[in-house]
Order: sequence, then C-alpha cells, then structure tokens
Amino acid sequence: MKGRVFNGMRPTGRLHLGNYLGSVVNMVALQEDYDCYFCIVDWHALTTGYEDTTELQNNILSIAIDWLSSGIDPNKCVMFTQSNVKEHAELHLLLSMITPLGWVERVPTYKEQLRQLEGRNIATYGFLGYPVLMAADIMAYKADTIPVGEDQIPHIEIAREMVRRFHFLYQCSIFPEPEAKLTKFALLPGIDGRKMSKSYGNEIHISDTPEEIRVKVAQMITDPERIRKTDPGHPEVCVPYQFYKAFTPQEYNNVARECRGAQVGCVACKKRLADIIVQRMAPIYDRRQELLRRPDDVIDVLHEGARKARLTAGDTLAEVRQAMNLRDF
Ligand code: SF4
Repeated sequence: MKGRVFNGMRPTGRLHLGNYLGSVVNMVALQEDYDCYFCIVDWHALTTGYEDTTELQNNILSIAIDWLSSGIDPNKCVMFTQSNVKEHAELHLLLSMITPLGWVERVPTYKEQLRQLEGRNIATYGFLGYPVLMAADIMAYKADTIPVGEDQIPHIEIAREMVRRFHFLYQCSIFPEPEAKLTKFALLPGIDGRKMSKSYGNEIHISDTPEEIRVKVAQMITDPERIRKTDPGHPEVCVPYQFYKAFTPQEYNNVARECRGAQVGCVACKKRLADIIVQRMAPIYDRRQELLRRPDDVIDVLHEGARKARLTAGDTLAEVRQAMNLRDF
C-alpha cells in the first residue's frame, strides 16, 4: 500500500525559488509514489498574521497557481485549502484537550519566532497552539510521511507523541506515527546573501517575469574581494554560485574552476546564470500566465480537493469521536 503524505504551505505571499526547489519540486515527485494531501494552510497563516487578512484570498490563489503551474497535478493528489475542511478545527480542539502545556511551550521554534517577529503581537493562544493544529492536519488524514526541513522536526515529534497519547488515553489504534521525510535541498540565499525571505525583500519569485529574474540575478552579491576580472574568485562566498549549485549541479564545478582561475568575469557569470534560471522557469511562467486568465478553474480545483479531503478527514473524525465517546444524539 502507498504511504500517505501530508504537506502544508502557508499562504503568506508569493512563493519564491527557495520554496520551489526546497518544497514544490519535491511535492511534484512525491505525488507519483504516495497518496498525497497538499494543503494551503490558511489557518496557520492566521497564527502570525491575524491582524491583516486582506491579502489572504489572493495569496491562496497565488499558491494554488504556483503549485499547478509547477506540475502539481490534481488528478494525482488532493490539493485544497485548510479552512474548507472543518475537521481540522474539530480535531485541533479535541487534541488541545489532551496536550500538556509543556509540549507546546518547549518547541524551539516557538521562542525563536516570538523573538524573530518581535513587534508583532503573536503572544496568543492560537500561536502557542500551532503545533497542535499541525498535528491535527497530519492526523486527520492518517498521514505517515511528512516532508519537512530540519527545523520542523520538533513539530513532527509532537505529532508522534500526540498519536501515542491519544491511543493510550482512549485505548485505540487509529493513527500511524508520522515520520519526518527530510528534504535534502540546501537553503537558497536571497539575492543579498541573507536568508531568502519576504521580510528582507530579497526573493526571486516563481511568478517573476524573465526580465525581473535577469534584473535580480544582476543584483546578486558576489565575492567582495574580486574587484577585477583578473582577480581569482572565491565562489563559496558568492550568491550566484549557490544558485548554480541548485539549478545546474552538473555544471557548478566548472563555474568554480573558471571563477578561481579568473577565467570568467562576474557580469558574464551572472548573465549565464540568469539564462539558466529563466530557461528552467519559462514553462512554469507560461503555464502561470495561462492559469491567471482562468482563476475560476483554479478555485474549482481547490473545491474539488476540499470535497475529497472532507471524505477522508470525516472518516477519521468519526473514529475519533467514537474513541472519545462523543456522539450525536
Ligand atoms: S565569477 Fe561567478 S562564481 Fe565567481 S564570484 Fe563572480 S559571480 Fe561568483
């Protein structure tokens, strides 16, 4: 039997190339071998962005278009929006009853995010409980395989503990213990060398036009010690080199050799990189333009996905209610 994947993505803005290579490419591969539930987790977006929700619907549509244009196929997976499947909320509520406070308080990302998002009021009940909502997302589909980066491992550990605690308390065996499937991809830096992030404005988006990509690649930070073309370069400190590694693993050794040997100038090197990225993203960009012309079709895909997701999550919740002696009279 196929394993079951749950993958959630927050609709907090347009997806960038780090999201594309680090997550979306992986999702496209997973849908071939697993029973996949790909979810746009809008309730999770509210845990840090509840004050201004004006862009939420645009962001949901934008992610759905990015996914579809990148090769996510609704005939091979179930793609939907979290808030369209109310079972997530019910399971979140029920799990929150059995979650010891210490479990959520000790999640390393909780304190780290509080620090990172200083200035935004996220000292809320909802934000503290987001690992419980994540566990509910996973458990509602009885998912056993969760593609994550290293920083998400503590969340999967909570979901595993939650499964064990639920089974122990209610003497049942409803859920598999989910396993983290680590994504191997190294993080792409932003064009300024810092982490690629909306808050730094240093992203290259999946939706960027070829011209925008070329301008951004031209702005990338290179080896600061390389003043003239005749100076030998240090590719390991150079942003374009990280992109070469990600986009053309077969070619990046050549780039390093040419750079160290002062055989290529940074302007030409970046131009070549821009060509490679533009060429790779061109089919996605074209499909995106086409989908933008028919947003209703994209919304239909999400509705149909939510209908399928509700069937699976509904079955799970029926078992959960029975185990907890909650019944409709
Ligand atoms: S030649 Fe290429 S790899 Fe070397 S420093 Fe310049 S942009 Fe970076």
